[in-house]
Amino acid sequence: MSAALATIDLEAFRRNVRLLVDLVAPSEVMLAVKADAYGHGVLPMSLAALEAGATALAVLEVGAGLELRAAGVTVPLFAWLHGTATDFRAAAENHIDVGVSAVWQLEAIAESGAEVPARVHLKIDTGLSRNGASVEDWPKLVATALHLESQGFLEVYGAWSHLADASVADDEIALAKFTVAVEVATSLGARFSKLHLAASSAGIRMPAARFDYVRFGIAAFGISPFDDVDGRGLGLEAPMTLSAPVLSVHELGAGPASIAGLDVDLDEPATVALLAIGYGDGVQAPAVERAEVLLGGERRRIIALGADRMLVDADDVAASPGDRVVLFGSAERGEPTAEEWAGHADSIGDEVVVSVSPRVERVYV
Ligand SMILES: *Cc1c(COP(=O)(O)O)cnc(C)c1O
Repeated sequence: MSAALATIDLEAFRRNVRLLVDLVAPSEVMLAVKADAYGHGVLPMSLAALEAGATALAVLEVGAGLELRAAGVTVPLFAWLHGTATDFRAAAENHIDVGVSAVWQLEAIAESGAEVPARVHLKIDTGLSRNGASVEDWPKLVATALHLESQGFLEVYGAWSHLADASVADDEIALAKFTVAVEVATSLGARFSKLHLAASSAGIRMPAARFDYVRFGIAAFGISPFDDVDGRGLGLEAPMTLSAPVLSVHELGAGPASIAGLDVDLDEPATVALLAIGYGDGVQAPAVERAEVLLGGERRRIIALGADRMLVDADDVAASPGDRVVLFGSAERGEPTAEEWAGHADSIGDEVVVSVSPRVERVYV
């Protein structure tokens, strides 16, 4: 009871994944579990996603894929962010598919000394300009990959890209570029087993972009990728509830006061509750002016925020030490949501959940 908790409802998460799996079938879901599964914990969320019908996992880096393999995960894993220290040999030998966007990466794969060919997915830049091969570089990337395939170093398995989701029109252009790039590669002799382009946004709203896999990330965590509808409006639920206990309740008079190092200056007398959570736990400081918490069944304003503590308004509400206060959680339960906090912080829901500090214990229910 003495600390902040991130309680994660695995069944709510599985419902989200099942909804997304059904939405895009017969395309499959490769669930994106980067950033420690958006702060929810990569292993439990990976296992839950697979139980709910996802058939592959996108892990960002080879190292994260190795951790999942060590934990016994056997489904296809896809890692796409590489540095000069990336262990391509371990990737190949542990059957971690690698996204490749540059010739140097193909060369590093060929020189890795792996006992088995690496399975690669070639990346075309469709407009995001984030490490895909440009239209000019694409034929060279494809030709190099095919040459190394003929020498037994790798298998050209997939082609992929990532959409910027700046606008529907941008995504349509990117989809067209992707289609042309696949045709160019095919004319050079490539035979792709898997094509993938869409993440949450296009996966939901652009059926033509679904191809073999949709790499859903944030939507599975109950957060909408769109501005015009929230997660609940998409039928999604927030698996994570961030809560903290009341440490003490104080009756303050008007004027300046200090509680646990938090300074306040009240216009009128008020009752305040001290909570065991602060910005060091990932509470979004820019949001506190407007954000609310759920205390004793009522939404309350935040009065002061520190690194480990915060004060909230507790006037006319039952509050005692040990009571749990919800910072964000489920809209169905009337709790503020991560999306609301994001709105108050001029941020995005992804950032609100990813920011929850590793020191906040994750509890799975
Ligand atoms: C983050 C990411 C995803 C998931 O994106 P969402 O918008 O969170 O669904 C998919 N693919 C790649 C390459 C990513 O970096």
